[in-house]
Amino acid sequence: MRWTTGDAVVRREILGGTPWLGWMVNVVEDSPDLLATYSPSGSPFSFPPGDWPTQDGRHPWHGYGGWRGTGTLMLQRPADCYAVWLFWDGPDREFRGWYINLESPFTRTEIGFDTLDLELDIVVAPDRSWEMKDVDLLWRRRDEGRFTTSEVQAILDLGDQIGRMLDSGNWWWDDSWVEWQPDPNWTVPVIPDGWERVETPMLTTRVANASRSLTRPASQRTTSHRLRHLAPDRHSGAQRP
Ligand SMILES: [Mg+2]
Repeated sequence: MRWTTGDAVVRREILGGTPWLGWMVNVVEDSPDLLATYSPSGSPFSFPPGDWPTQDGRHPWHGYGGWRGTGTLMLQRPADCYAVWLFWDGPDREFRGWYINLESPFTRTEIGFDTLDLELDIVVAPDRSWEMKDVDLLWRRRDEGRFTTSEVQAILDLGDQIGRMLDSGNWWWDDSWVEWQPDPNWTVPVIPDGWERVETPMLTTRVANASRSLTRPASQRTTSHRLRHLAPDRHSGAQRP
């Protein structure tokens, strides 16, 4: 199933086979090579109850009703273990930079797509300088039981590979996305009842392609290592929800 520009879909984060975050987004582009979605300001979150491996047993974003601040655009290629988020700020939508959100490859559902945040992020400034974010937090998640040591190492390895891509200046996404604007006719989507009960293909896709080559054409990409178990966490971005 492919989505049409403007469709409101549920971006779910799946932990241990069960959704623990639902987040409404609008589809910007759904093509064989790219899924681009947009979270407008106020786009709702939902948090199903569960015995989650966090200090208080709840999703780290719990308490936030939805996305705060200027809307964000998210670009993810099929099978990539990260998405590229673009941040703007203020009424004039001043570009604030890119944000590499390490997350499991998306899988489609009846109502949208599923993924899983991998805690580590890379903040890329408009001048293309970058820094890794939340390395310490990633290890803490290991201690909480959300990741194994080998998973953390694989995530860090992927972060290093992405860093080398950033250093090369040869990234795959188009700079023209910086100029992208949401359709002014789009409204803030509403999360549908029963979203958390929709079957998740993540149950059978616990092994993810962590690090295919980052800049070469798809036909030349290879897999060099894997993540066995993927866990989400708070986004903790330049803009918090
Ligand atoms: Mg993240």
